[in-house]
Amino acid sequence: MDIEIKNGVYHLSGRLDEFAEFDSLLAGPDPLKVNLSKIQSINSIGIRKFLAFTIARGPKKSEFYGCTPDFIANVNVIPQMIGMPSDARQIKSFFVPFNCESCKRLDSSLYELAKLKTDADGDVDLGKHVCSKCGNEMDLDVEKSEFFLFLNYLPNKS
Ligand SMILES: [Zn+2]
Repeated sequence: MDIEIKNGVYHLSGRLDEFAEFDSLLAGPDPLKVNLSKIQSINSIGIRKFLAFTIARGPKKSEFYGCTPDFIANVNVIPQMIGMPSDARQIKSFFVPFNCESCKRLDSSLYELAKLKTDADGDVDLGKHVCSKCGNEMDLDVEKSEFFLFLNYLPNKS
């Protein structure tokens, strides 16, 4: 995993695995701005290292940008990854995967948490996604209720 600092944002790229080092992030500002969009893969040891890093930072705040679906899936299982108490509002933006049934292709769209829409029932409304190749509407490639579990992680909720 590589870390590049651009305009105060720490851009992580590559594999989040046993070789990932977060030491240089520990002394980072509060809030620490982290962009995860170039993380290609995540394994369980990488998750443990990430968790150890957030625990070591203690109550300092972070802002996570460009969270990959893989990262979100892990936060859904281990909310402590975004700090304790876990606060979903620290996930500033994330990618949602869609698939086109006719072209058999995947595409993901970046959503900003602050601009996320909800329908009358309070469910997340992601809008329509049209395949750039065939023009058909794309299907969500994840189970919506599972993917958005993290939205429930707020300090004033259990
Ligand atoms: Zn298509």
